Parts: sequence; C-alpha cells; structure tokens
Amino acid sequence: MSNKDKATHELNKLSKRLHRQVGEAIGDFNMIEDGDKVMVCLSGGKDSYALLDILRNLQARAPISFDLVAVNLDQKQPGFPEHVLPTYLKAVGVPFHIEEQDTYSIVKKLIPEGKTTCSLCSRLRRGILYRVAQELGATKIALGHHRDDIVTTLMLNMFHGGTMKGMPPKLVSDDGRNTVIRPLAYVAEEDLVRWAEHRQFPIIPCNLCGSQENLQRAAIKEMLQGWEKKHPGRLDNMLRAMAHIVPSHMMDTALFPFTTIKPTGAPYAGGDIAFDEDDEACAPPPPAEEAVIQWARSPVKA
Ligand code: SF4
Repeated sequence: MSNKDKATHELNKLSKRLHRQVGEAIGDFNMIEDGDKVMVCLSGGKDSYALLDILRNLQARAPISFDLVAVNLDQKQPGFPEHVLPTYLKAVGVPFHIEEQDTYSIVKKLIPEGKTTCSLCSRLRRGILYRVAQELGATKIALGHHRDDIVTTLMLNMFHGGTMKGMPPKLVSDDGRNTVIRPLAYVAEEDLVRWAEHRQFPIIPCNLCGSQENLQRAAIKEMLQGWEKKHPGRLDNMLRAMAHIVPSHMMDTALFPFTTIKPTGAPYAGGDIAFDEDDEACAPPPPAEEAVIQWARSPVKA
C-alpha cells in the first residue's frame, strides 16, 4: 500500500469511528429525537466545528428528522475575527445565529486584574446561550465536550471537589428550561484534532481574552495524557467505568442502604469478597478454582 493509500485508509477509519461513536452516544442517551431542533454551540474551536460537521453528516442519513442551527456567541473579545464563522457557515449551508454580547467588558470591569475571569465569563455565556435557545425554539443544546473533557472533569472533581461527578452526556440545564447534550461524549480528543486538520476548519484561537486555561484542569489533562501514553486504552476504560457504577462498593449512604443491610443466608452476587482486594476488578475464577473456593467456604464438619 502506498503512503497515500495508507493515509486515505486511516482517514476512512477515523471518519467511520467518529460517526459511529457519535451515533452510539446519541442512541445510548436518546439525545436527539424526531422533530428536535438542535442548537449547536459553535465557539470556533476544533471540537465544536467537528460536532457540527458530524451532526450534519448524521442528519443526512438519520431515520429521524431533526433540524440544526449553529449559534456563536460573539463576546467582543479584542481581535475576534467576526467574519470567520459566518463565512464558513454560509459556505456549508447551515442555518446560524450570531449573538453579540459584550461579556468581555463586563468581566474586565468586575474581575480585578490578575484574577481568573473564566468562572464569571462562562456563567454569563451559559445564561445567554440558554436564553438564545429559547428564542430560537431549540429543543436541545449541543456542546462539543468530548471523552477527555469528561474524564478530566471527573478527576478534577475528585481531586479538588470531593465528589465523583463528571460531565453528563445529557442533562436538563440548571435553569430547568433546556436539555443539554454532548454527542462527542465517546470521542477521543486526539481524533478530533486529526479530524479538524483533515477538514481544515477555520479555527479561531481560544486565548483571545488573554486568560489562562484553568491550571488545575491543565495539570490533570497532562497527567491523563501521560497515563494514556504509558497504558493505551486507559481513558476509554475510565469512561467505561463511569457507565458501570457499583453503589454497594462505593461509600455514598444516599445511594446504598449500608446502615440497614443484613445477611439473608442466601448467596449474594454483588456481595463483599473480603480480603481479595486485588481480585476486585478481575474476571470470575475458572471452574476448578471455584470448586476449591466453595470447599474453603463450606462449614467444617464436626
Ligand atoms: S478563556 Fe476567556 S473566553 Fe474562555 S471562559 Fe475564560 S475568560 Fe472566558
């Protein structure tokens, strides 16, 4: 196979994987239903471009009918190239709305110099996007967060927030009026980087406001990337773990009735396997071993 053929083959594989993963996430969480109007939040970064691109392709071959509308919030950051997104969206033929709101000045006025502005900025952005969704009659708000964002958020909340809380693939918004979906939930960031290069999206840099990326998030991202490099597949496993939670083996008394459980005398499949800490995540033992284990557990005859 020539290098060119190899590259085309790899791109086909990437395209299939991306569309399959997005289709699966949509199906698993019932993200998009017949008649939906999906508002795709487009920041100008690689993730939101890829989200819109993949949703358009899926829309063309989906058995259900739904509409897409791309929305960009122009926050009036200095140097924001306002023509880039409209030019792209007109060229690809997607209905769109650019919402102009000078949140940049508000944030600059309220947050002292040198302090991080992201928290207020993103709260303002969220409120504006919720309102725009209502005004446009959108039934879903689609965001471009991907697998790596979700796992990073879980770690961030564990390390700094004391909660096991990730980023939901689908949830009602905190104002109770919108449904937020994340169709890229299963997609690896490195695949999005490659897709953005291949599709040559006109990326708008995300540091126009001059604020630094959240340092704690950046540190966790770096840690996770290091793990993935050393143990490929670890991020996928972590994401899978988020979909297979065993409340009886965690410590949340609101999720499992630890305070009232009592033995019934009957074998309990999800019960404690005392002392076998290293076996917690392993497959069941082969039958010969199982027989010896049962012997060890049987009452000693007098
Ligand atoms: S990086 Fe800038 S634009 Fe992005 S959330 Fe932070 S302050 Fe807002």
